Amino acid sequence: MTLRKTILSGMRPTGKLHLGNFVGALENWVALQQEYNNYHLIADYHVLTTDLDASHITRDSIDMVIDWLAAGIDPKKSPMFRQSQVKQHTELHLILSMLITTARLERNPAVKEQVRDLNIEHMSYGHLGYPVLQAADILLYRADLVPVGEDQVPHVEISREIARRFNNQYETVFPEPEPKLTRFARLPGLDGIDRKMSKSAGNTIFLSDTPEDIQKKLRTAVTDPQKIRRNDPGRPEVCLVYVYHQRFNGAEAEEIGAGCRAGSLGCVECKKRIADRIAATLTPFRETRAYYDAHSWEIIDVLTDGEQRARTRAEETMTHVRTAMHMG
Ligand code: ATP
Ligand code: MG
Repeated sequence: MTLRKTILSGMRPTGKLHLGNFVGALENWVALQQEYNNYHLIADYHVLTTDLDASHITRDSIDMVIDWLAAGIDPKKSPMFRQSQVKQHTELHLILSMLITTARLERNPAVKEQVRDLNIEHMSYGHLGYPVLQAADILLYRADLVPVGEDQVPHVEISREIARRFNNQYETVFPEPEPKLTRFARLPGLDGIDRKMSKSAGNTIFLSDTPEDIQKKLRTAVTDPQKIRRNDPGRPEVCLVYVYHQRFNGAEAEEIGAGCRAGSLGCVECKKRIADRIAATLTPFRETRAYYDAHSWEIIDVLTDGEQRARTRAEETMTHVRTAMHMG
């Protein structure tokens, strides 16, 4: 008998999900749930690192679960749960926080980027340590794989280091988790090929956008600056719209690229075509979303069940941890 491997991946409930979340992570979760034991974490405590107002977190968490279900996560296969409702996260976090130095956390490139992007002057202790809480999130389920976008790879590396440190100091309890990337692990936003699509950058297409929203947003997309007139030859390799064609318009992407290069296809037409393709991809998504918007009480059952299953796995791990440390 081959044992199924375990996956843990989560997101912060900080707003509506976008195409980057979908092609970088969510889509992989859906595909992998056939083969792996998937656990999906609503990282509600992590929201506090950048926003102390907790009053909207419950509503935002429910909203995010609707997005996950709409994308095709099956709650029978993949428990979905709030981090705050599985208390073992905080217990493991405390233990793991002794196994990493502050210097290592200060070197974390993602924290440096956030300090710059969000103009943070004084970082809280909890914010600096959020990769340790993330390590606890992952290791608590003894996950083998973590399907995430490229920006999360440094965090998974920290989780691996902490797992190694624990295993060496006490006993081997944790597998060293590995990141699992998709082909589009860093989807660009509408404002340029070098800019990652991201909630905080306001350059997103949301999974819940209507076809009209999508058309409108694509009109603003930044294309090759050297292609000014319709008939100017363009360079698809520097154009974010072409990345979208590669992902959402597989069959026609090559023809689109050739038309752009030859100067026979203008940006207006190219954008219209991809907007249609993206809208079509998101149609089933919008339909499922509309169902759950009208039946949001079903989400409570999904969470109650997911949280119970998560607690069982988490407590099993903590029993190993306490035994390994001779503390239980
Ligand atoms: P924020 O701006 O608040 O950091 P975000 O838009 O970057 O939000 P996250 O909640 O940080 O989204 O990310 C959730 C998951 O989606 C992570 O696995 C992350 O790596 C992935 N992801 C986010 N943006 C992209 C993107 N543009 N391309 C591919 N994957 C992405
Ligand atoms: Mg992010």
